[in-house]
Amino acid sequence: VNPKIVTSKQSNANLNQKQQLPMIQRNKMTITEQRQSLPIFSYREDIIRAVTNNQFLIVQAETGSGKTTQLPQYLIEGGFIIKGKVACTQPRRVAAVSVAKRVADEYGCIIGQEVGYKIRYDDVTSSSTIIKYMTDGILLRECLSDKTLDSYSVIILDEAHERTIYTDVLFGILKEAAKKRPSLRVVISSATLNAQKFSKYFNDAKILTIPGSMFPVEIKFRASPEHDYFNAAINTVLNIHLREPAGDILCFLTGQDEIERAYDIIEEKACSNEFSNLFAFPIYSAMPFEEQSEIFTPTQRGQRKVIFATNIAETSMTIDGIVYVVDPGFVKQKIYDAKTGIESLMIIPISKASADQRSGRAGRISPGKCYRIYTEQAYLTEMLDSTVPEIQRSNLSNVILHLKSIGVGDILNFDFLDPPPRSSLVSALKELYLLDALDEDGKITTIGQKMNRFPIDPNYAKMLLLSEDMKCSDEIITIIAMLSVPNIFYRPKKQQALADERKNIFNHAVGDHLRLLNVYNKWEMNYTNPNWCKNHYLNENKLYEAYEVRKNLLSILESRGVEIFSAGKNISRIQMAICAGFFKNIARKDSETIFSRGTVKSYKTLDKNPETVFIHPSSCLFQLPKWVVFNNIRETSKKFLQDITVIDPQWLPIVAKRMYRSTGVERNDCDDLLALLNTIQRLNL
Ligand code: ADP
Ligand code: MG
Repeated sequence: VNPKIVTSKQSNANLNQKQQLPMIQRNKMTITEQRQSLPIFSYREDIIRAVTNNQFLIVQAETGSGKTTQLPQYLIEGGFIIKGKVACTQPRRVAAVSVAKRVADEYGCIIGQEVGYKIRYDDVTSSSTIIKYMTDGILLRECLSDKTLDSYSVIILDEAHERTIYTDVLFGILKEAAKKRPSLRVVISSATLNAQKFSKYFNDAKILTIPGSMFPVEIKFRASPEHDYFNAAINTVLNIHLREPAGDILCFLTGQDEIERAYDIIEEKACSNEFSNLFAFPIYSAMPFEEQSEIFTPTQRGQRKVIFATNIAETSMTIDGIVYVVDPGFVKQKIYDAKTGIESLMIIPISKASADQRSGRAGRISPGKCYRIYTEQAYLTEMLDSTVPEIQRSNLSNVILHLKSIGVGDILNFDFLDPPPRSSLVSALKELYLLDALDEDGKITTIGQKMNRFPIDPNYAKMLLLSEDMKCSDEIITIIAMLSVPNIFYRPKKQQALADERKNIFNHAVGDHLRLLNVYNKWEMNYTNPNWCKNHYLNENKLYEAYEVRKNLLSILESRGVEIFSAGKNISRIQMAICAGFFKNIARKDSETIFSRGTVKSYKTLDKNPETVFIHPSSCLFQLPKWVVFNNIRETSKKFLQDITVIDPQWLPIVAKRMYRSTGVERNDCDDLLALLNTIQRLNL
């Protein structure tokens, strides 16, 4: 993590050196004029009428037409407020917050009053809120306490083409809810051309297509394949700046690391004359909210902006002024292995639909150009037509627990738009059974209901529940909070040794979870010292985020009257609680493996088909204990375990009765378990 772009104060200082970018003409338009200039404006009456007369409506329009910002306002103006609030879901937190702020400005209120947002760990709404932007995950969570979502008159499932797992599950739930509550209105809003499919699913719902005002975009393919898409993309950006007329550049990259690297390169280049008027801006989901708005600052005459963005800029955020798009053709995507139950992130080629969306970003204000860092052949023959829906490549235990909780017993016959693979369903049911969240008949247990109260994945929820019994919830809450905010430590390229030395101060012989606990506790003692984080190479924003997560989890426990205890010196209680959530992730020290650079001890996972894995160099477990529990496997040159803690295998049969019959060695993979077979047979799996 590069501290230069992590704190907003510093990046503002960066801008000041080169003068703040002043406003351009467009911003002299009043907000009303801006609203009326959007393509969706002439359909305002049609939309209000269609929603009045139909339970389901599909709205399809180009990105930037005004769907997200205008639809909720039109519906409020059209009188729906009498029957309840208008909800608008977004797949991404960043988009929910950014768009809510924009709409609060348009509406003329303070954010959190009439217009508000709710995302995990951050609820900026009040009793006067009538337009509520929220992540799709939050709306799904609200279904747990109110199946028919009675406080809303209209629910807009926005960015439906993204097909996130939560939006897909909400499709099914809202279809059911609409049967039970005839006054409920559901709008499906989407950028690309799958409206027919949505319409068919929602009982042949009416489709409203809003033509966009798109300019032509010239597509430039590579003549031959590029081996290093990152450097090729950066060089393309630099060339555009030198050779092409005015207009901002949007360059798609796969994640925070790449984006920060790109930002650094442009910052360095900006010291030379020919690039002094090129300004880089990053945008990715984990970025602090205060800085995200900087990308909307319009460019001054003679200057050019380059935005390095993840997929977030593909459809969910519209940035004005883009004329050039650089598309390396890759995305970081979640994949899931139902056999091992492990989800991981991989950089893979995008789909054709994605490529077309990306190039479309260049044609909003004038004719534009899209530089694809791949060949036409690759586009035609190697890319899938559309992205595989997330529900077909995810661990489903979280959503299945939600569905079970709202009374959907027969998961296999749930009305999915595209059903997930059976193997994923079976593996999630098994996992929930092993966690004691489901009983032998596949019904949700009291433990399962309790787990559902926390906005965290079932493994973490189980860990937290057990910590209540083990009297160590104080520590476990902190550990969960710290695990939920990645990149606490940063390691600037030029100061790696010093950064590592400072990081070692927090090391703990028992493992990485206790190191995280150390970091948090020491920060709490020193947070008033303005230099403490900097001196320890810690990301202060992330620590504040962890503080918020912790506060939120604490308040959930306290609202249930749970007393919070600290383990004190009994560290093993904390280790056992971690085991209670992650008992599937156990590894045992293996024989020695010789590598050219020395001897590296490898581990074997405790699976039916054991995998050879290694301790990640960032772990503080140097002494190579015999048995460990881990949170993640990260695959780079080898398979590395991350976030690791030492365990005693004797704990396993205690904390995971359904999985381990004796001391960790004899493992029950459930296949032979009569009880579970009953469940599976009953569901025809
Ligand atoms: P859609 O959802 O159809 O893609 P939006 O409603 O998000 O379109 O955007 C409509 C217009 O509102 C955009 O073209 C942009 O000019 C403006 N806009 C959206 N979000 C912001 C923001 N955070 N700051 C400034 N302008 C914005
Ligand atoms: Mg939108």
